[in-house]
Amino acid sequence: LSTWSAVPAGPPDPILGEFHHISTDANVLPRAEAVEPMTWLLNTLLGSLRIGVTEAFKADKDSRKINLGVGAYRDENGKPYVLNAVKKAEEILRTSNPDKEYLPITGLPEFTKAAIKLAYGAESAPLNENSIAVTQSISGTGALRIGGAFLGRFFPSAKTIYIPTPSWGNHTPIFRDSGLEVKQYRYFDKKTVGLDFDGLKEDLKNIPEKSIVLLHACAHNPTGVDPTPEQWKVISNIIKEKQAFPFFDMAYQGFASGDTTRDAFAVRYFVEQGHQVALSQSFAKNMGLYGERVGAFSLVTADPEEKSRVESQLKIVVRPMYSNPPVHGARIASTILNTPELNKEWEGEVKHMADRIISMRERLYNNLVAQGTPGEWGHIKSQIGMFSFTGLTTPQTKTLAEKAHIYMTADGRISMAGLNGHNIDYFSESVSKVVK
Ligand code: PMP
Repeated sequence: LSTWSAVPAGPPDPILGEFHHISTDANVLPRAEAVEPMTWLLNTLLGSLRIGVTEAFKADKDSRKINLGVGAYRDENGKPYVLNAVKKAEEILRTSNPDKEYLPITGLPEFTKAAIKLAYGAESAPLNENSIAVTQSISGTGALRIGGAFLGRFFPSAKTIYIPTPSWGNHTPIFRDSGLEVKQYRYFDKKTVGLDFDGLKEDLKNIPEKSIVLLHACAHNPTGVDPTPEQWKVISNIIKEKQAFPFFDMAYQGFASGDTTRDAFAVRYFVEQGHQVALSQSFAKNMGLYGERVGAFSLVTADPEEKSRVESQLKIVVRPMYSNPPVHGARIASTILNTPELNKEWEGEVKHMADRIISMRERLYNNLVAQGTPGEWGHIKSQIGMFSFTGLTTPQTKTLAEKAHIYMTADGRISMAGLNGHNIDYFSESVSKVVK
């Protein structure tokens, strides 16, 4: 039985329809729990700590200062980077002189079609059978929010989502505001600075049947630690045994390994194994479209008829949130994905960004070892994507800020993209000193 067999069809055009007559289920959104005061306090403090990194960096006048707190790619000179493929797509758009009319509620169809092809693969069975429901979204955050709201309304069992510990800081508030209950499963082992696979397996085996499980598709944020393909197979089996529902957050496709196909392994494997996945996609990192807010939310359904019912309900979720999504970023992404030469150039640039990060990992590791830095630093090389959990303690991060003008989050997470040929040696020496 498909997860979505009971989802009713909405009207052909919900703008003209009357929402409260569409679906009885849609009107009984579960109420979000009140946030406990301690959680609120902790989140507020964590939030101000994070803002504190950028503020303190800005106020620091030392020329050697480094900001490793930002979650955005920086080029070899520490500057924001606009991809050539993006510039060329914008040039094509400029000459075609498009209007600024509203998009449909679910966005630009050429974009959403290309986005799901990129994620699921051209060979994907549900893609070729026209059974993937999809909507454009306000980047990855918006995709998760639409997904949360849809699951809050229609998920046929307890509306509890399990997220890894730790996870991206916005996951809990997004899903809580969507009306889901948020719980956690073990993920990161502080001792090995790697995956706590035993803890993860044990926790997933103990969740109630038919729960929702959030999985980072690749380049786990904040740890940089991903399961291996073999471990993904085990996770897929446990989720199947528990009849759980996998919700993938893919914010970094291509950014992890430099290869968009390789980074889609987990999503594609789960779909091949017959899981009806939900998927959030972001084009913020892999196309450098951060502020353009380009993303997509999709759901694998049983067949085209179910797909159209689910899509009609996605429209009903989206419409009162923001009516319809922004057009410019989606046109850029669509032009890149649908123009073969541009797509090729983009794939090359994704690889370039990922390779530069990987080379910084190598250099940092080599420097730390060459400088006789106490401790095991292999995780710097094995971690994946933009972030690295260095294992530095909060007092050490404080010393680095005060003595060396190096800024990172208090949990010791650094954005590898903030390192480059000009500052890597200074950074390694400073870390080495603070650890010694
Ligand atoms: N998921 C994860 C794991 C992320 O790290 C991020 C961005 N930091 C997002 C989703 C969403 O980002 P955006 O809304 O900018 O696409």
